[in-house]
Amino acid sequence: MIKKFLTTEVMSVFFILGTTVSFAADTLSESEVKYAKILRDKALKSDLAYSILESLTTEVGPRMAGTPGDERGVIWAEKKFKELGFDKVYKEPVTFDRWTRGIEQAEIISPFPQNIMITALGNSIGTGEEGIRAPIVHFETFDDLTKAEAGDVKGKIVFISYKMGKTRDGSDYGKAVQARSKGASVAGEKGAKAIVIRSIGTDSDRLPHTGNMNYLENVPKIPAAAMSNPDADLLLNMLKRGSVELGLKMTSSPGKPYTSYNVIGEIKGSEKPEEVIVIGGHLDSWDLGTGAVDDGAGVAITMAAAKLIAEGKRPKRTIRVVLWAAEEIGLIGARAYAKAHKDEIKQHITGAESDFGAGPIWSFDWSSTNEEEPIVDQLADILKPLGVEKGKAKATGGPDLWPLRALGMSTFSLRQDGTDYFDLHHTANDTLDKVDPIHLAQNVAVYTVFAYSVAQVDGDFGFDNKY
Ligand SMILES: [Zn+2]
Repeated sequence: MIKKFLTTEVMSVFFILGTTVSFAADTLSESEVKYAKILRDKALKSDLAYSILESLTTEVGPRMAGTPGDERGVIWAEKKFKELGFDKVYKEPVTFDRWTRGIEQAEIISPFPQNIMITALGNSIGTGEEGIRAPIVHFETFDDLTKAEAGDVKGKIVFISYKMGKTRDGSDYGKAVQARSKGASVAGEKGAKAIVIRSIGTDSDRLPHTGNMNYLENVPKIPAAAMSNPDADLLLNMLKRGSVELGLKMTSSPGKPYTSYNVIGEIKGSEKPEEVIVIGGHLDSWDLGTGAVDDGAGVAITMAAAKLIAEGKRPKRTIRVVLWAAEEIGLIGARAYAKAHKDEIKQHITGAESDFGAGPIWSFDWSSTNEEEPIVDQLADILKPLGVEKGKAKATGGPDLWPLRALGMSTFSLRQDGTDYFDLHHTANDTLDKVDPIHLAQNVAVYTVFAYSVAQVDGDFGFDNKY
């Protein structure tokens, strides 16, 4: 009995310790704080990130996973890391099924014939050369579709008209994106012929937003597309007048497996080189724009931050910049990295991914059970002149860090202003002219301070294995 009791007691203590993620980090010395401020001010004046982004968008352009652009992006990234003088540059394989877009056309056949602007959703099947013609069945939200009777949906093209709201933190994306990611499976199960949603975007341009979707197993696969915001409004006006018939032609198709790469550049630590701070962005993009904002900006910001740190005093820990492959089609590169590095997870001290555009950073979060951490207050003080506020103890780290976080790695979220992010997201409008060089440099300054400080400080940021 006693033995059993003790075992349970020990286990519960262990469990509590295992789920506690308060920091064991020291604070920076006065001279380190002074040095971090020098780095901050130097980064703020640097145009390095903008020149990296200009290079990526001009010399490579669109980098959809599995395309020749993806391949050129990998070559570009290795070359750029080397040019910038990173100590170690290497790549790790990431394999996935390729998808091709093909032709994408839609027209209102009746009552008032005209073309509308659509794009296929990533991973969607095509309609066949002959296309599909069917009446529209309209739902205001994804939830409304889930509640619909199969009899109302069968043989029709589902249209979901929910319009994503515009906020600084992109908080409406989670609700809006369900129509894109799961709509086809729900509609397919109820016997729909296809689904064409209002784009998950906050603009009024006549440009559709692409993005990934997935089919649930054992559900009939149907073609899935998104129409531009003005075309969704047009369709609603027609539906006020009665039934609408839509014609849809898409030749998108799944393809054979393809191997791309996570491309990695390191600035080697001077005292604890085996301990790493992970920063980065994803190297792949969608194919419609040049992937400047999503996520060329994240690539450029983090490459520049590490390079600016390397030009000065060496940090104690290694700064590892990971340019993630195939993020857009389901965090494939991030999952491959987590699998390959799971045995070294405790050497991954903390990290942050930049993947929310090129707007200025206005706040930062950390992952801890404590709202008060002395190193966080120090960081907040150094970042304050950049307009960055201390946020909350609830960081998620960015999408490509989720698989590492699931293994227990600590993360920070350096939160960008995303008010305009979903105007451009996954559209042909995602191009370099949308990036403000001053905002980009502010991002670099924040990443420089963050990466240097967490690489330098003694102690760690906890290990959270609660997942
Ligand atoms: Zn992204």
